[in-house]
Amino acid sequence: MGFWDLIYYGGFILSIIMMVVSLIISANCKHTFKKYSKTMSSRGVTGAEVARRILDTYGVGDSVQINHISGNLTDNFNPKDHTLNLSDSVYGSCSIAAIGVAAHECGHAIQHHVGFTPNKIRSALVPAANIGSRFGVYVAMIGLIMMGYLDYAGTEGGMGQTIFYVGIAMFAFAVLFYLITLPVEFDASRRALKILKQDQILVGEEMTGARKVLGAAAMTYVAAAASAILTLLRLISYGKRRR
Ligand SMILES: [Zn+2]
Repeated sequence: MGFWDLIYYGGFILSIIMMVVSLIISANCKHTFKKYSKTMSSRGVTGAEVARRILDTYGVGDSVQINHISGNLTDNFNPKDHTLNLSDSVYGSCSIAAIGVAAHECGHAIQHHVGFTPNKIRSALVPAANIGSRFGVYVAMIGLIMMGYLDYAGTEGGMGQTIFYVGIAMFAFAVLFYLITLPVEFDASRRALKILKQDQILVGEEMTGARKVLGAAAMTYVAAAASAILTLLRLISYGKRRR
């Protein structure tokens, strides 16, 4: 049994396993964040204050505005309008989780500021990835159906096959986006932890907590990338069967 047979026959089971693993990773992320949201840092500074300080220290300060947004784990840096948006549990909180997340978002602002290459590639991929993740699978499936029911008169490379390949190409952009997100996210956390330690914003055991919070969050991006890869492989395996 070859690789593609394994994906073709085992794809459904693999997807179920992936879904369960993703749920566990997501639950662990929320649990870890919650846990360290209850642990206050000894410095007694809020997420917003830490963000302000990091942005000022690393020369990104003037151009970036820090906003308080609603929601939970909705924190982000928006490169379009140069805003660093911190959620309820981060903006005004002195917890280790809040400081870790605030510093991570600063990491994204610094990436943007210094022109970190993976970040540039990721931004460039956004439009194509949006379309690809929304419609790629459906387009490929329409192609498959046509290959099965309309092109079966023995025509090689029929209309269905072309549509199938277009769908695959569209979804491949989404996969690429998920993949390039990994070095961007890992780098933002690496920068954050380095600064928190270097500038002694967090001390001793507090660093371990921040590392755990950011590590748990990073795993959700790994799960998203792995799920997207599996979906792409499953689609390709269906196409190989049809031919
Ligand atoms: Zn991030």
